[in-house]
Amino acid sequence: MKDSNFLKEHNGRLMWHPMTSPQDSIDQPPKIITGSEGVCIIDIDGHKAVDGVGGLWNVNLGYSCQPVKDAISAQLEQLPYYSTFRGTSNDAAIELSYELSQFFAPDGLSRAFFTSGGSDSVETALRLARQYHKLRGEAGRTKFLSLKKGYHGTHIGGASVNGNANFRTAYEPLLPGCFHIPAPYTYRNPFNETDPERLAQLCVQALEDEIAFQGANTIAAMIMEPILGAGGVIPPHKSFAPMVQEICNRHGILLITDEVITAYGRTGAWSGARLWGIQPDMMATAKAITNGYFPFGAVMIGGRMIETFEDNPNARIGHGYTYSGHPVGAAAALACLKETQRLNVPENAAARGTQMFTGCQALKEKYDIIGDVRGGHGLMTAIEMVSDRATKTPIDPVTAAKVQETAYQNGAMVRVSGPNIILSPPLVLTEADTSTIVSALDTAFSAL
Ligand code: PMP
Repeated sequence: MKDSNFLKEHNGRLMWHPMTSPQDSIDQPPKIITGSEGVCIIDIDGHKAVDGVGGLWNVNLGYSCQPVKDAISAQLEQLPYYSTFRGTSNDAAIELSYELSQFFAPDGLSRAFFTSGGSDSVETALRLARQYHKLRGEAGRTKFLSLKKGYHGTHIGGASVNGNANFRTAYEPLLPGCFHIPAPYTYRNPFNETDPERLAQLCVQALEDEIAFQGANTIAAMIMEPILGAGGVIPPHKSFAPMVQEICNRHGILLITDEVITAYGRTGAWSGARLWGIQPDMMATAKAITNGYFPFGAVMIGGRMIETFEDNPNARIGHGYTYSGHPVGAAAALACLKETQRLNVPENAAARGTQMFTGCQALKEKYDIIGDVRGGHGLMTAIEMVSDRATKTPIDPVTAAKVQETAYQNGAMVRVSGPNIILSPPLVLTEADTSTIVSALDTAFSAL
């Protein structure tokens, strides 16, 4: 390994980093993380911080989860790779598909299609949705609906259903036939509606209107996150998802939940679908499926999809990845599922999530820079910063970066995304870790 001077000197110069500009990485070199312990990360200078980001919403079990590390090592020894393309399979992938079918049974999902990550899972679900309608003789159903502010990864299909211009504009033209519905975002919405339940109804009415405008028989699927994550942690009113499901069912539109963040306990429930009591046709998962230790994902598939594909000898799936069902990823996922269940991770996520949400709401009372605090469902919380509470003018990036840096110096890594501080720590966080994050933010805001 090169020494730390070499690493610092080359940091940001030779590697183009995601979600920033190459120049920015040179002007503001990224923090170099070289170690970890429990729910903490350690940087190249030996500074230790509680990871309020949880890697990237994925290290749910923390960095020291030995059973997952052991499972990966053992699988590397036994069989480091074999494909699941036509004609071959591997034992770890088969066992995982069994465990996942049990785990997701309450969501009505019992088949798995394995991928290499979240964007792949989204892409897989979109493609299978189109194929489903073709198999049923409705080839005209090709369009996709999604929510503004939604995040669905970076492939062309996912970017096309993304509801945030930052991830779209530079890559246009994207896929034709993708349409966006207003998100149930109480703090800012085109209806100026502040009541979450009424707002849910208005958004659902917009969905009905769009379906009528496009023609239901042209729409393949609606994809949405049960709680919008990267778009700024936007939990809808509890009536929202069931109403969306009812509308989709009524119009023969498939419902895909993008649970790359919300599956496996993040919201305090085992899945986002279970949180809202819905049963999607497909669920895109990734991230915490392997605790971030191995790139892996799974699309879970249910009811009418299964019948259509399994009853039809011509339903050839012309889609898949070299790493679909990778045995090392599958072994990691098996160990993660077991640990997640053994530790009853959603229960802790719910308790610590309440603590974090309440702590952040108290900060809002103290600091005018906080315009809105969102959360209340497990360990996903956002603090939206404004320069003026009355006009809701978003905070400037320099001030936002200052908050992040001061919080870091005071023991908590937090993530700034636009005007939002997004908190998505490991789900095994303790009460003391949670306090560390909130008090580091307190210090950061008071230092402004
Ligand atoms: N969907 C959602 C809801 C996500 O949050 C993400 C990643 N943040 C993705 C898809 C894409 O996943 P990946 O970065 O693993 O491709």
